[in-house]
Amino acid sequence: DAQQFAENRYDSMQYRRSGRSGLQLPAISLGAWETFGGYRGEEIARACLYRAFDLGITHFDLANNYGRPPGNAEKVVGKVLKDMPRDELIISSKAGYYMWPGPYGDGLSKKYLVASLDQSLKRLGLEYVDIFYAHRPDPETPLEETMAALDLIVRQGKALYVGVSNFPGDHLEQAVQITKQMGLAPITIHQPRYNMLDRKPEHNLFDHTVRNGIGVITYSPLAQGLLSDKYLGDKLPEDSRAAAWWGRKNNEEVVRGEVQDKLNRLNSIARERGQTLAQMALAWNLRLPAVTSVLIGASKVEQIDENVAALKNLDFSAEELKAIDEIVPY
Ligand code: NDP
Repeated sequence: DAQQFAENRYDSMQYRRSGRSGLQLPAISLGAWETFGGYRGEEIARACLYRAFDLGITHFDLANNYGRPPGNAEKVVGKVLKDMPRDELIISSKAGYYMWPGPYGDGLSKKYLVASLDQSLKRLGLEYVDIFYAHRPDPETPLEETMAALDLIVRQGKALYVGVSNFPGDHLEQAVQITKQMGLAPITIHQPRYNMLDRKPEHNLFDHTVRNGIGVITYSPLAQGLLSDKYLGDKLPEDSRAAAWWGRKNNEEVVRGEVQDKLNRLNSIARERGQTLAQMALAWNLRLPAVTSVLIGASKVEQIDENVAALKNLDFSAEELKAIDEIVPY
């Protein structure tokens, strides 16, 4: 029997338009990097994806290389998607980082992008993805070739929209000019890292996306969980990503150092707003009209509930914003 989903799933989520495109995305989207098919198995992936969809999260983000081994995230999520309504979902994938040996398994050449998307579609069990991304800049491949390959993929019906990820503003600007000059599929969305501990896009990216009518979906909005209340104390929680997976020896020092003081100060502001630190961190990303959606990860269902509840308070007073700027300067 087909899985039943909550009838009220569209009642409280907010949907925002990606730039000047027709594509609307939920204010909170869910990604699979490292979690699904990585340090979390199929059962948790299924529970998280179902819960997310019940709360109106219609967008799930993947890439060719996510999971262990690389590709496993698409397999695990693909299996779950078989029991979900395809036409109510926006599924994305990407290529650009190393995936297979030899000259055709890395970068942004036409050969790699086309071959990799075909592999992703097989792993996902889908006929098309909604968004296909160039995952990072490739200084060795002409940008014209990359943008033409993305356009070909759209014309072949293997992706509906195309995006870029990790492109600095000037590189994005060049890509936009190429799509205009060559009459290619426009860039609908950009996926940069942006959070309270990494405000670079405010300096070198958002001007460009807004001017060109390109939406933004920000990844690691919680700085991989750092911007939550689990790292406020001195001990790393055992089931945290920092303890379980970062694999660095000095994790505790990293958390305890300068960052921890900032986290505790931010946490007091969050508490005064009636939010957890994670909720405030997400609301803070969404304060900018430039940001279409925040792209979270989740290692358990409860995190999705907590994070979606951030939408209950997206307003910041001028005083709150100033206090935050003093802790994490612009
Ligand atoms: P986040 O910053 O949201 O970190 C997610 C992790 O934080 C979770 O797995 C969980 O880890 C912890 N967490 C989440 N919510 C809470 C909470 N309420 N309380 C406590 N801990 C919480 O995002 P990610 O770094 O995971 O990235 C999200 C997505 O962005 C990826 O899945 C991927 O789709 C995309 N991405 C894209 C990249 C790119 O180059 N384009 C690069 C990286 C990510 P735990 O419980 O295990 O500690």
